[in-house]
Amino acid sequence: MKIIDIIKESKDPIFSFEILPPLKGNSIYKVFNIIDKLKRFNPQFVNITSHHSEYIYKPLPDGSLRRVSIVKRPGTVAISAAIQNKYGLIPVPHIICKGFTKEETEYALLDLNFLGINNLLVLRGDEKSYDIHHPDPQIYNIHASDLQQQINRFNMGIGLEDTTIEGIQTPFSYGMACYPEKHEEAPNMESDIYYLKKKVEGGADYFITQMFFDNSKFFDFVARCREEGINVPILPGIKPLSKKSHLTVLPKTFKIDLPEDLASEVRACRNDEEAKEIGVKWAIRQCRDLLDHGFPGVHFYTMSASDSVVKIAEKVYG
Ligand code: FAD
Repeated sequence: MKIIDIIKESKDPIFSFEILPPLKGNSIYKVFNIIDKLKRFNPQFVNITSHHSEYIYKPLPDGSLRRVSIVKRPGTVAISAAIQNKYGLIPVPHIICKGFTKEETEYALLDLNFLGINNLLVLRGDEKSYDIHHPDPQIYNIHASDLQQQINRFNMGIGLEDTTIEGIQTPFSYGMACYPEKHEEAPNMESDIYYLKKKVEGGADYFITQMFFDNSKFFDFVARCREEGINVPILPGIKPLSKKSHLTVLPKTFKIDLPEDLASEVRACRNDEEAKEIGVKWAIRQCRDLLDHGFPGVHFYTMSASDSVVKIAEKVYG
């Protein structure tokens, strides 16, 4: 079933969440443990992130360091299949431009098509400080909208070099990302929304937002999108703050602000346990407010917060 149909037709508020593949070498049971905790809330779908390679420095016997490239969290496609088979849940693998050639992307699409996985979240991927800033557009998709075009062509049975792709029974449907507080590289919100509109014109069914902690910013953003004629569902992404250090780490990593009411409460906490409780209470208030405003549901970021998501879901969906 397409995610857009679930969003439109679900009588209950959507409960969905994102998981990360385990760090290379770790067991898939880390992922299953999270799903085991959350499955009782009937997730309508589960997103699985995708990661490109990163550099690590390997010490050599002579004391020097060798720079090697590794994918720290491989396995998005395989984990998606495992979730589908083990739990019967709808997996939504993330598919990204960064670090993947168009050819590698095509192979991933073929694998997913063979597996009967046809919902995707289509993204550019995180920019790393050491990224080559001008990847060859013949070889790599640059923006999420370029990747979107490759997927659209694949859906029509057209592969790279105009090869024929046979046997597509269910074309891919997909959502894309949006940023209520603006994407960090966008010169302004107007520009960011301009490209969102292009994504909808290109076939994006819905958007999932970057995490935010201030609902008023999300409501303003949605209102601006609607004014610009973007009428697809916008699913709010919520991450429970779960550590004191999140006060600085989340703004730095995700280019978002934390409201002062929340920040001051967290500052006063003596330890992470207290901060986690504040994070849960804040997220419960946010979720209730979002549902009260008629949004179809909430998408949760579970990284380092799956226990908090359980507590939130008990109150919001219980
Ligand atoms: P784009 O749509 O390419 O936008 C990037 C910037 O370019 C924006 O400023 C936009 O305004 C502008 N822009 C867009 N289209 C064009 C165009 N055609 N020409 C010129 N400018 C343009 N990262 C990962 O690495 N793996 C993940 O699994 C992952 N999952 C995510 C899930 C969600 C819900 C969200 C919100 C983010 C996720 N990210 C993930 C992070 C995301 O990849 C980064 O935020 C990335 O910097 C931007 O991705 P995008 O798809 O919005 O990019």
